[in-house]
Amino acid sequence: MSESPIMIDAIINGEKYKVDNQAPRENPTHPAEVVGYAPVNTREDTIKAIDVAYDTFITWRESSIDERIKRMRKAIQNIKDATPEIAKLLSREHGKPLYDSEGEIGVSLMWMEYACDQVKEVIKSDVQEHDNGKTIIARDAIGVVSAITPWNYPISLSTIKIAPALLTGNTMVLKPSPLAPLAVSKVVELIAKEFPPGVLNLVHGEADVGVELTSNPKVAKIAFTGGTETAKHIMKAAADTIKHMTLELGGNDAAIVLDDFDIQDEKAMRRLVISNFLTAGQICMIAKRIYVHKSIYDQFVEKYIEAANKWIRVGDPFDKNVTVGPVNNQKQVKYVQSLIDDAKGKGAEVVKLGKILDQELYEEGYFMQPTVVLGANQEDPIVVKEQFGPTVPILPFNDDEHAIELANDSIFGLTSSVWGKEEHAVKIAKHIQAGTTMINTAAVQGLDVRFPFGGVKQSGMGREYGKEGLLAYTDTHVINIPNTKDLPYIPE
Ligand code: NAD
Repeated sequence: MSESPIMIDAIINGEKYKVDNQAPRENPTHPAEVVGYAPVNTREDTIKAIDVAYDTFITWRESSIDERIKRMRKAIQNIKDATPEIAKLLSREHGKPLYDSEGEIGVSLMWMEYACDQVKEVIKSDVQEHDNGKTIIARDAIGVVSAITPWNYPISLSTIKIAPALLTGNTMVLKPSPLAPLAVSKVVELIAKEFPPGVLNLVHGEADVGVELTSNPKVAKIAFTGGTETAKHIMKAAADTIKHMTLELGGNDAAIVLDDFDIQDEKAMRRLVISNFLTAGQICMIAKRIYVHKSIYDQFVEKYIEAANKWIRVGDPFDKNVTVGPVNNQKQVKYVQSLIDDAKGKGAEVVKLGKILDQELYEEGYFMQPTVVLGANQEDPIVVKEQFGPTVPILPFNDDEHAIELANDSIFGLTSSVWGKEEHAVKIAKHIQAGTTMINTAAVQGLDVRFPFGGVKQSGMGREYGKEGLLAYTDTHVINIPNTKDLPYIPE
């Protein structure tokens, strides 16, 4: 099913910005097929986009909130109308099954709608009359926002930034990942056209574009989702001009299975499997290490493998029977395989999960058969590092305290989950260092756009989603109107 490649342009000041240098994006299911081309912008192009966003901010920040909401609602409708086409493009360039692409767009729309519904109330000025006069606590827009996004959820991780930034009166330059640049560009186009030129700009490219976006003095805020190592470069680049920052970074989320977890509960077991292998494990908030109480470890492993074998069907993202598609890129396949090989070399057992529906296609694309790794140690790279792919280690723990210790033994702290009787699980959850802890579910199955999402430790700072996700694009501005009486301790 080869289709002609689509061409994407940067958008600067409401216009398509054409450059000769174009990078192909391959289809991970059929790597010989080019799905489309995205521009390779330069630092000079990026400076143009930032300059435009900077100049536009002067007028855009004065626009009424009703106008912004009205424009955003039109953009939402545009995306709704184009969902089938965008989802298809996303599956082709990314490799995620069609249901997963549709889900990503669905969550994006949910958040954009929530942001439109809530923004007025969340950022309205708080006016306080008090014994020393009157104080207005206003929420001002910050300025030009540089948004930099990864390849795994390119649309939702861009709209999570675009909607609050624009609704609160900021302007933006967005740079998606070169590993999934196409579908998100269509979405940006559908949003940008509803806003005055220069409010939402799009550039493409590699780290040099990212460096400009994070160091340019005209940029006031960075909204970044990606790897923790990249974030360290970004913090350094931004230091000279003290930029605001929201950083959503890597995770190594623990799932703790308590001794009172019902291993006969097939639905719960399937939820756990999904929370390991959805999007072929390429989700920041996927459960990446499973710790099981030693008293149920053996039966758990047996039931887990049974459930995984039922749910995991590897194949073409456009086949309706498929639950797991290929990995997005070859580098990631090699990295995940190296972690598995390392564990195997140290004596761990690697068990293959699920069915491969089309062996020929499997050989052609960047596929990996999902695996579970048994007998690894807490210090092994498969446990310590973020694998970001279709494999998961299962380790035993002795008691609740031990489980908490193992879960917290990580530089990361994005999400986590506890599986067992609710009261017991909540008790454990309170001791886990994470931005979110879910009970008897995990990963996107427990995500709710109404509540703040983000990490602790090296998983990031700041929050997206929820009211905090709107406030993150504002600065608090206090306007004080005190009684002009003299202060008693200042001499005349
Ligand atoms: P990455 O850090 O390699 O790239 C992310 C973006 O940063 C890309 O657009 C890339 O081009 C850009 N970039 C690269 N170098 C840069 C630099 N020096 N300055 C500025 N920008 C630069 O991440 P990735 O491989 O695309 O995504 C996977 C990572 O993202 C994983 O670690 C995953 O956990 C994380 N992630 C986190 C969340 C979250 O919400 N916490 C969500 C999704 C993904």
